Amino acid sequence: MADTTVADGEVQVRIWGARGSVACPGPQTVRYGGNTACVEVRCGSRVLVFDGGTGIRGLGNALAAEEPGEIDVYLTHFHLDHVAGLPFFEAAYRAGNRVRFHAARLNAEIGLRDILCRMMSPPLFPIPIDEFRAEVSFNEFDAGDVLRPKDGSRLETRLLNHPGGACGYRLVVGERVIAYVTDTEHEPGRPDAAVLALMQDADVAIYDATYTDAEFETHRGWGHSTWSEGIRLADAAGVGTLVLFHHDPSHDDAAMDKIALDAATARPGTMVAREGLVLLP
Ligand SMILES: [Zn+2]
Ligand SMILES: [Zn+2]
Repeated sequence: MADTTVADGEVQVRIWGARGSVACPGPQTVRYGGNTACVEVRCGSRVLVFDGGTGIRGLGNALAAEEPGEIDVYLTHFHLDHVAGLPFFEAAYRAGNRVRFHAARLNAEIGLRDILCRMMSPPLFPIPIDEFRAEVSFNEFDAGDVLRPKDGSRLETRLLNHPGGACGYRLVVGERVIAYVTDTEHEPGRPDAAVLALMQDADVAIYDATYTDAEFETHRGWGHSTWSEGIRLADAAGVGTLVLFHHDPSHDDAAMDKIALDAATARPGTMVAREGLVLLP
């Protein structure tokens, strides 16, 4: 049985998927991983999950070894790399679990539950959402709201600059602050005020570092940022540990090693997210 317990008052961050855009498993990506966005935050016995990319499948399987419990899943938006793992999230099929899905209202025409229903219906997927055996709820909020997860933590939200919008998070647990800011495009020379607010004095800030500076020039308008902008923002916001995230699927392990080295040279302590990475803020 996996030892995933975290003492009361302790916070643990675990990366289950660090890739952006599309899963890219294979021999060239074994070390950083090929699964898409999913980050678990444990606060004592509470499980908070950020995004449901393909990485959430591994998390669900690990949770199966534990007693049923309460799980909150906070989505940034509905691009497939952030929701494609949800139909394979074992915890939602397990009676006794209570799974709460949360997302910002980014589209006036269709809500969280309907989007997931649409994804989990023929011809896209054979198993409808009614097959979930956990007690499941769907909760919407407006980007900018301050949420109060049940454990007494505080979760601030902000709208990010991304096609169709995305929601960034700032989780405050006791003295600890964790920022989860992915799928956001910066404007060169203009630090993003929403991102700075989310990252301010964060112990750990997970940031969209899809592109290198050179790649960014040819991908303007695609909704993503760079590791060098992440460093500028982290410096400006007084971040403890910057964690680069949402890696482009074209970046194999060798490319990621180079980014890791360049980024850690530019800002010592900067880390590159990889599957299985555990952070103790
Ligand atoms: Zn994405
Ligand atoms: Zn996106």
